[in-house]
Amino acid sequence: NEGVRLQKVLAQAGLGSRRACEELIAEGRVTVDGEPARLGRRVDPERQVIRVDGMRINTNPTLVYYAFNKPRGVVTTMTDPQGRPCVGDYVRGRAERLFHVGRLDQDTEGLLLLTNDGELAHRLTHPSYGVEKTYLAEVPGPVPHDLGQRLRAGVELEDGPVKVDRFRVVGSAGNRAMVEVVLHEGRKHIVRRLLEAVGHPVKRLVRLRFGAVALGDLKPGHLRPLTQQELGRLF
Ligand code: URA
Repeated sequence: NEGVRLQKVLAQAGLGSRRACEELIAEGRVTVDGEPARLGRRVDPERQVIRVDGMRINTNPTLVYYAFNKPRGVVTTMTDPQGRPCVGDYVRGRAERLFHVGRLDQDTEGLLLLTNDGELAHRLTHPSYGVEKTYLAEVPGPVPHDLGQRLRAGVELEDGPVKVDRFRVVGSAGNRAMVEVVLHEGRKHIVRRLLEAVGHPVKRLVRLRFGAVALGDLKPGHLRPLTQQELGRLF
């Protein structure tokens, strides 16, 4: 009789009351290490992989996951020896030791994930994992009609070709345009280098999405915990 009752673990992870979590189990929607779980099951929440409707649940209370809106001008490091404003300045005083998941350029704004789950941080930034990212860029316009086609076909950069998954012009006014770029790439300065290569150097760059996580109306310099749903899709 070792371990903690599954419904208790699910309830503590935020899936509802213990009663509601018992129902999830009874309905056959919960698996433990890939096997359907029955009522009465006990688990080790820090070691075993628990899924509800196929979505992984964060049952380890020591792990935290945040979405952060990095302001422009802030460097993506937790401490900066040169004393520049850095991401770490926004999370000082928290008990957990947080890592940033990947990097944004100093002049890029927007969504950056922060976590103390080093394993997930590492996995999500590995090129083979290929998380889809969405960026909004301000570029000199007008943007030719065939630019999207060109970007989807692939553009040669000095360290190899890059392809975008989706591209659209969000808006334009006079000689300025806002464009949205969706890609799986993680190479350094990739969006800036790509748009520069096709004659539209970036004036402002904002990351709007990282996988299942959207920036939404999170204000610059603020952070919020990821929801169980967002987490389930990242794991
Ligand atoms: N691409 C860039 O050029 N800069 C970023 O910060 C992120 C993606």
